[in-house]
Amino acid sequence: VKKILVITDPFLKEIGLTDKVTHPLNEAGYITDVYTDVVPEPPLAVGEKLVSYTREHAFDMVIGIGGGSALDLTKLAGVIAVHEGDVADYLNLTGTKSITKKGLPSILIPTTSGTGSEVTNISVLSLETTKDVVTHDYLLADVAIVDPALTMSLPAKVTAATGIDALTHAIEAYVSKNASPVTDALALQAIRLISQSIRTAVHHGDNKQARIDLSYGSYLAGIAFFNAGVAGVHALAYPLGGQFHIAHGDSNAVLLPYVMGYIRSACEKRMKDILDTMGFSSTHLSQEEASHRCVEELKRLVEDVGIPSSLKGFNIGHDALDSLTEDATKQTRLLARSPMELCKEDIYTIYEAAFEGKVVDQTLVKA
Ligand code: NAD
Repeated sequence: VKKILVITDPFLKEIGLTDKVTHPLNEAGYITDVYTDVVPEPPLAVGEKLVSYTREHAFDMVIGIGGGSALDLTKLAGVIAVHEGDVADYLNLTGTKSITKKGLPSILIPTTSGTGSEVTNISVLSLETTKDVVTHDYLLADVAIVDPALTMSLPAKVTAATGIDALTHAIEAYVSKNASPVTDALALQAIRLISQSIRTAVHHGDNKQARIDLSYGSYLAGIAFFNAGVAGVHALAYPLGGQFHIAHGDSNAVLLPYVMGYIRSACEKRMKDILDTMGFSSTHLSQEEASHRCVEELKRLVEDVGIPSSLKGFNIGHDALDSLTEDATKQTRLLARSPMELCKEDIYTIYEAAFEGKVVDQTLVKA
């Protein structure tokens, strides 16, 4: 390797985080170019532009440093640049081409504790009204460097949103239809680390132990959901990102209590485990009571870290619920892992619950 493309966003370059990567490489004789046209929740066009840039300048390695947005784009650049056609040709919902070979060597360095992108095979892109992914095992990084010190500068709001994103990965992996004893072990440890450190990391951002716990938590949650998958929360969150440009972590956070509250009866025992793992004793509660308590604690956690706990809090009107439902229904890849099958009516009911800010339980709706 001689010529390396370092992919990041303008803010991270400005605060000097990328220098920690480029300086030692330059001293060792490598040529580096820092690409900063990364935006949060990157639209498809941003991915297309980066892939063209990577092809034109014939780089032989990519390094991503940043949040999930920079890392996802790095994965795309490394792989699609060695294939023919556009990024759009490889999208999961509408693409027509398949990824057939490994891309450029890649290193991913997260600066948020959230997406787990450094250990997953997915790149997420924003489309006009929803999100879609490019996914293949060739998108996996060759090396991931997870250093909590890089997250110390994260503002409270981003710490909250990305931390709840990671918690959602762990919870959805734990209740997923594809969960296994391996992913259970990873997911429960992630839930423990994240739920017991996120309040401190948000309100005391300079607390090193909280940052370390969140970093390990998001990394473990990433491996858990890469293997077991995420489900309903993500399926309903994608249209919030697509239609209202709400950050991915916030979209998951606002929906988490309502999706889990709705599907509670399909995963009662696992919700009881989650409650215990979050540090609450469920010894004198029945399985059913513990699962209700788990939903309450998840709602409280989202509120405690300062994220609005209803769609109204994000200025989303009731008239948006139909189009949100329409788009969420298309996320069949994600919905397939839900422990409870969710049809269009179920999805609408969950959005309505999230709009009102009141958890609705499926067993009561269908009774
Ligand atoms: P992000 O990458 O969009 O970053 C959010 C903001 O935080 C940016 O403004 C960035 O400049 C800032 N930031 C990042 N690190 C910082 C630091 N150390 N100090 C100060 N500011 C910092 O946010 P994200 O939540 O990490 O990533 C979201 C994207 O990842 C979305 O597109 C989402 O769909 C995707 N995603 C991907 C996966 C996957 O497996 N590939 C999983 C979940 C989400």
